[in-house]
Amino acid sequence: MNLILLGPPGAGKGTQAKRLEERYGLVQISTGDMLRAEVKSGSDLGQKAKGIMERGELVPDALVIAMLGARVSQPDAVSGFILDGFPRTVPQAEALDVLLAQKAMPLSHVIELQVNDAALVDRIAGRFTCAECGEGYHDSFKQPATAGICDKCGGTEFIRRADDNATTVGARLEAYHRQTAPLLPYYAAQGTLRVVDGMAEMAEVARQIEAILGAPPGASNS
Ligand code: ADP
Ligand code: ADP
Ligand code: ZN
Repeated sequence: MNLILLGPPGAGKGTQAKRLEERYGLVQISTGDMLRAEVKSGSDLGQKAKGIMERGELVPDALVIAMLGARVSQPDAVSGFILDGFPRTVPQAEALDVLLAQKAMPLSHVIELQVNDAALVDRIAGRFTCAECGEGYHDSFKQPATAGICDKCGGTEFIRRADDNATTVGARLEAYHRQTAPLLPYYAAQGTLRVVDGMAEMAEVARQIEAILGAPPGASNS
């Protein structure tokens, strides 16, 4: 099963992708995480992407397409993947179609998480992650069970993204509406688009996604 999670910044793509990764044995491919790793390593690509990401704009298609193409060619992608944050433009979607056709890895579903802009600003402003394992948290909606300690790995260090600030959020939302939203009719025309209410609680969003995908392998019907 190969999926795309589509939605604006802060919609819950990463949150749901991590859950699907565990429940369905799929691999999460987040171009945002990959680009942040490139920036951190100071690679050529990272140096090109850094300023663009800080401004909340999109990294040029050619760079992201090349990076994604290499990632999808890794052996672990064969068992199925969840694309989180890619594609973000129509040229990226077209390149993905070509790539997946060559590899005979068809898309199963494109799942849109619908969330309104006001809620997105709150979600992004309160977002933080475990520095050790990357588990996602939120100041209001998902605190660790014990304050200061990661539920997943016991880590005690947390990070906030440089671009999760009030100034950059506006640019990121604008980029979504102008450059990424045209993917909705693109995938609707392909017949792969499914819509989920991303305003619901995390567990309910997960339930709606599982209703689309069918029960995970080996799961009980709860
Ligand atoms: P994206 O990957 O789409 O940018 P995230 O999964 O990182 O979004 O979610 C953004 C923030 O909102 C995180 O802090 C996350 O804990 C929180 N969040 C995710 N889904 C929900 C939800 N359904 N309700 C409330 N908060 C959520
Ligand atoms: P979000 O929480 O906004 O969904 P991501 O982690 O997916 O954030 O992306 C962070 C930033 O990385 C984006 O604002 C953009 O600059 C860059 N980026 C990530 N994926 C892509 C892509 N597919 N195309 C262009 N730029 C990308
Ligand atoms: Zn952790």
